[in-house]
Amino acid sequence: MYVAGVDVGSTATKAVILDENQQIVGRGLTHTGANVIKAAERAFAQARADSKSDDWEIGFIVGTGYGRYKVPFGNTQITEIGCHGKGAHYLFPETRTILDIGGQDTKAIKINAQGEVSDFCMNDKCAAGTGRFLEASASVIGLTLDEIGDVSMRSSHPLRITNMCTVFVESEILSHLGRGKKVEDVLRGVNNAIAGRSVALMRRVGLDDEITFTGGVSRNKGMVAAIEERLERKVNVSPDSQYIGAIGAALFAWERTQKKVGAS
Ligand code: ADP
Repeated sequence: MYVAGVDVGSTATKAVILDENQQIVGRGLTHTGANVIKAAERAFAQARADSKSDDWEIGFIVGTGYGRYKVPFGNTQITEIGCHGKGAHYLFPETRTILDIGGQDTKAIKINAQGEVSDFCMNDKCAAGTGRFLEASASVIGLTLDEIGDVSMRSSHPLRITNMCTVFVESEILSHLGRGKKVEDVLRGVNNAIAGRSVALMRRVGLDDEITFTGGVSRNKGMVAAIEERLERKVNVSPDSQYIGAIGAALFAWERTQKKVGAS
């Protein structure tokens, strides 16, 4: 019996399929775009194809993320905060503080030893400090998301970026570049500005020894380095960091199937 989690984020939709031993057998990732239902279907179809199995049945599907009610094939919905906690605990059982930077919001989540959420706070009022902010910065410089991490790591004299508004930061970046400042120093300045806000958000829920960085922005190694520098310690990042919400949703789905088995 397989189970699935589908995390419909504002920017990206992720799907994960787990087998009966809670091992990941398939992943799907797609841009959410305007048609949220289609994005959920696309990510799920990708995860099914990725699992390379044609002889299986999905016992339970949990939808999460801002578009969780738009997963037409989902059996139930659970908030992304709960799913991130569960997913982070699965990958890093000792972690207690989670930083999730997604496309349009940033969350700091505190979990207990069972992976249950005990506190959280979030910034979803504007794009400041989110993936959207990084995308705007990359685009004004003329780089792709895949490139900005490596480029920022070459910085030796990071600049201080003062604007956290997506619109104003573009002109600040152009003004630095116009004065001959290096692209890597500008990007590292952007990363440092986001890191400062993110660490302040984490302090509001409390910083524990083991911190896990999740969400699509954790794929940016320049951001990981900026957060670690600000915290003066390493953070957990998994190659599956962008899937953590979907993994948590699939784990909740797995628990539901166990309850069904227990009840029958
Ligand atoms: P949400 O769940 O809010 O839709 P995600 O957690 O999936 O968002 O993160 C989306 C963000 O991840 C994008 O805005 C982008 O900034 C970032 N991102 C995605 N892929 C990459 C990549 N390869 N390198 C750097 N950043 C990335």
